[in-house]
Amino acid sequence: MKDTEAGFSADEIDTSKPHSARLYDYFLEGNDNYPADWEAAAKIIKLFPSVKDTARTNREFMHRAARFLTNRGLHQFLDVGTGIPTEPNLHQIVQQITPRARVVYADNDPIVLRHAEALLQSTPEGRTAYADADVREPEAILSYAKQHLDFEQPIALSLVALLQFVTDDHDPYQIVRTLLEPMASGSYLVVSHVTWEFNPKIWDRIDAIYRQGGTPVKARSHSEVLRFFEGLELCDPGVVLSTHWHPDSEMQILDEQPLYVGVARKA
Ligand code: SAH
Repeated sequence: MKDTEAGFSADEIDTSKPHSARLYDYFLEGNDNYPADWEAAAKIIKLFPSVKDTARTNREFMHRAARFLTNRGLHQFLDVGTGIPTEPNLHQIVQQITPRARVVYADNDPIVLRHAEALLQSTPEGRTAYADADVREPEAILSYAKQHLDFEQPIALSLVALLQFVTDDHDPYQIVRTLLEPMASGSYLVVSHVTWEFNPKIWDRIDAIYRQGGTPVKARSHSEVLRFFEGLELCDPGVVLSTHWHPDSEMQILDEQPLYVGVARKA
């Protein structure tokens, strides 16, 4: 794991293959994507025409969940699978409400690392940090986070559109338990996750496209997503489709967007 405070690494960025973070950036209409990503994105859009709406509603869920928790007094966030920066980023949302908030980001993608500087523009009262790290090594993420966050105080663990990139052979449920284990009572877990339930036939093909870039996708069922919250107190309205979770008054509610989301408190 590389700590950006120790200097940016010169990891090789392979633009000849589609990549999960750049595909997501493309679906959000960002600028950091390349022809191999466009080609893969076109295939995905053919299978899943509303994928851009799903990406947008995912990002908007992250905004609402961050505000929800900051308004409940949370001022420490650990966000794993951060993605290519897209404004507003998590720390901008929470520091607007609580300027002293601290946010630790982690992602395993060299492209996100290259952009980490945008994630490190904290308020003077607060703090942001970025680790080039893989969620499949949760202990390394925790030891980095402990340098920046106070584990005696509640922390919001944000795993937004990340766990679908952790296949069952890496035991994503155990990873989530390991990350939460040292966190204080009153900490929260935030999850969003793609589901195959509305269109089971397309996911094997979408997985094949993502595999070309080296990152398989494992869409999960409602009950499989619910399992990430085992042992925690789920906030209302539970694990629901993204636009059904505390929608803003002017928001369009979309049914059948294949994205389950939820927020829960550690007792
Ligand atoms: N959380 C952001 C970005 C989601 S895209 C948002 O919801 O807006 C998924 C991100 O997870 C990508 O940036 C990808 O690089 C990262 N990712 C995928 N597998 C990972 C892993 N094993 N460890 C850490 N990050 C990972």
